[in-house]
This record gives sequence, structure tokens and C-alpha cells, in this order.
Amino acid sequence: MRFYSTKGNAISVGFKDALFHGLAPDGGLYMPETIPHLGIDFFKSDLSYPELAVGMIHPFTKDDLTHAQLTDICELAFDFPLGIKELNKTDSVLELFHGPTLAFKDFAARFMARTMSYFLENKDNELTILVATSGDTGSAVANGFFNVEGINVIILYPSNRVSTIQEKQLTTLGGNITALEIDGSFDDCQRMVKAAFQDHDLRHRLFLSSANSINMARLLPQSVYYAWAWKQYANNETVIFSVPSGNFGNLTGGLLANRMGVPVEKFIAATNANDTFPHFISSGTIQHQDAVQTISNAMDVGVPSNLDRIQNLFHDDVNQVKVDIASWSFSDKDTKESIQNIKNEFGYLIEPHTAVGVLGLNKYRNETNSKTKGVVLSTAHPGKFADVIEPIIGNKTALPDSLQIAMKKEKNSIKMPNQFSDLKEYLLAV
Ligand SMILES: *Cc1c(COP(=O)(O)O)cnc(C)c1O
Repeated sequence: MRFYSTKGNAISVGFKDALFHGLAPDGGLYMPETIPHLGIDFFKSDLSYPELAVGMIHPFTKDDLTHAQLTDICELAFDFPLGIKELNKTDSVLELFHGPTLAFKDFAARFMARTMSYFLENKDNELTILVATSGDTGSAVANGFFNVEGINVIILYPSNRVSTIQEKQLTTLGGNITALEIDGSFDDCQRMVKAAFQDHDLRHRLFLSSANSINMARLLPQSVYYAWAWKQYANNETVIFSVPSGNFGNLTGGLLANRMGVPVEKFIAATNANDTFPHFISSGTIQHQDAVQTISNAMDVGVPSNLDRIQNLFHDDVNQVKVDIASWSFSDKDTKESIQNIKNEFGYLIEPHTAVGVLGLNKYRNETNSKTKGVVLSTAHPGKFADVIEPIIGNKTALPDSLQIAMKKEKNSIKMPNQFSDLKEYLLAV
């Protein structure tokens, strides 16, 4: 399988190159040349999670990894459970937060870490992973790559714009993980990382790679849980997936799963006040705007990087996009009410990102009267957002053990202005 650049000015590459390059040389994002349709019988068959993952990912990686090698990688990467919480007859929450950093990003980060370390074996070239994070990517990547030999991870995160717990997860591992605390927004961090990849000196001096949602290899593992949810829950019918979205990597994974054959009535891209995508759906135009800060901070993204991929999948036709995806934006006030309502009605605690997803599903039901089964993707454990949730519900939330350990450690970060020149200087010096 070859992967082409969405900008169309770079030669197509194989999986391994798409994995290590992250961004194409022309600044575009890699997309698979074809998306194989696996057939409904594949999705109906009795498969473990790693087997399902291998079946879905193998067509994309088979030039570089044998079936057996991919099986090893998937068994190591996906060694934690998923959960489905049925709220009522039609609505469920897909709990994607049972991995080591308690957020859905563990799926992609663990897959990429295992895959990269597999390709790096017997190589003396040290790899530097550069990653911008709005919160959870950084900790998932740091955790996935922690102590992986031959790989250094440098994380850029926006100062004062991630939760205390997220910051602790980013800054307390040490070892091969370095946290750069950027005086700016997530968009600044992302811009700096993109600039680094396009910088001639840096490309020359360092073996650089990314683990952001710009990396094609993140999307593949993020397609698998859609199929898993459908298998558990849908009884062979279509489902609605409501996806709390920021950079739209999660949603793009869903679109891949759908093209591979998972029957979907509609995807709902639910956003916070950062409403570039819902605006695009309703108007057909993309307004470049700065990120605004919300309580669902991992989705505080001004211009979602996967927008290019989504447009590409639908041949730049917004009417086609609308057939598959509905999208709305929700305020922090709505989000807090949703957390409260779900707690009152079902005795179930959700965090702010998941709450935005719940609002998206409710809105869709109100607009369409659809009674199709709906799945809200729950992207993080509520304990990670205790500082937001506790004032809303008026109760303490239980912190899982792994977070309690991180909270007790000292923060260790390097402060940096939001200028690419500072990042470049730092990288050339290490
Ligand atoms: C990253 C993240 C999101 C947004 O996912 P995208 O793939 O960037 O759209 C939502 N919720 C949480 C908790 C996240 O960490």
C-alpha cells in the first residue's frame, strides 16, 4: 500500500516512510491510496480485539510487516480492556480510557511506539519524536515511548492550558522524555512542530519523527474500536457515532472504519467553542481562527489538522461530507449541564470531552428523531478532569492509582517562548 500527500506535490511512500516522516515533504498529510473494503462477514466474525486490529490494519502495512509481526505489535499495544456503558435502550458510551494514561490516545500511541521500535531494531540512528499536545497526546506518547531504546521524545505543551493532572503526566516521567512548556497556545505548539519538520538544518541533523494526529499511523489503530463497538452493540444494524473532536484524528479513524465496511448511519463531530468544523459543514468555507480556551481543553484547536484528510476523502465536496457527518459546537455551560444531567439521570460520571459527545448525540436525535443505536466515544477517564468535574457535581472524584502516583512527583519542564527559532536552537544543541 502506498500513501500519497493531500497536497499532491510529493511522491507517494510506503507505510514505513509515512510512519517515520509524519508530514509529507510538501506539507501535506499522508493518505492511503486505497481503503480496502473488508466485507460485513469479516466484521461479524468472532475475533479478539488484537485479531480485529490485525485484520483492519494489515492491508495498509503488509509491504513492511508480515501478518505475524503485526500480530505481535497489536497484542502488545492493545493489552488493555474497552468498556461499553449502556445508558438506555439506544444510547451507549464507549469507554476508550482504560489504557495506561486513561485517554483514548493510548490506542494510537502504543501502536506507534511498538511499530517504530520494531523498525528501529538494529539501527544506530537515534530517533527524536517531536510532538505538540493539547493535553492527552503528550502523556499517551510519553507513556507509549517511555524507556523505548533509541528513541527520545520531546513534547511541546501550552503553558497553563493543560490540567494539573495532564501536566504531571507529561512532566514527571523523565528518562528519554523531555517536556517543553511553551508560552502560547496549542496552535503555537503545533505550528512550531510543523516548522521543525520543514526546516532543512533540523532534517539534516536529526532523525525526526512525529506522533501527532498528522501521522497516518495514528489513524489506523483509531479505526479499530469503531468496528469493535459495532460488533458488541449494533446487532448487524447501522449505528450513530458521536465523536468529541479537536484535531479530528479520532473522527477520521471512524471514517476509515466506515469505508472498510462498518455500517454507520451518521458520524457526529461534536466540538466545543472551537467551531471551525461545524462552521465548515454549514457554510462550506474554512475560517482560520485562533483556538479559544474551554473546559474540554484537549479539543481547543483552532484549525483541525485532519480537515485536509476529510476534505480529501470527500473530494472537496462539502455536500458529500454532510451526507456522512453532522457537526455542532457546544458551550462550556452546556457541557457542565450535560455532566450534571448524566450524573443525575444514570448515576454515571463523564468528563467534559465525553459530555460534548453526549450533547452531539442528543442534538442529532432532536433534529432527526432517529432511533438508531448511538455510541458516544468517551475519550478520557473522569478522574483526569477532577478539577473541572468536582465543582459541578459537588463531590470528590476518585483518582485512579496510576494518576495518584504521577500527582506525587515533581514537575520537570523546560520553559520556552512560542517562537520556532527557540525550538530550533534547543534542538540543535541537544
Ligand atoms: C485528543 C482528545 C480529543 C480530540 O481528539 P481528536 O482526534 O484530536 O479530534 C478528545 N478528547 C480527549 C480527552 C482528547 O485527549
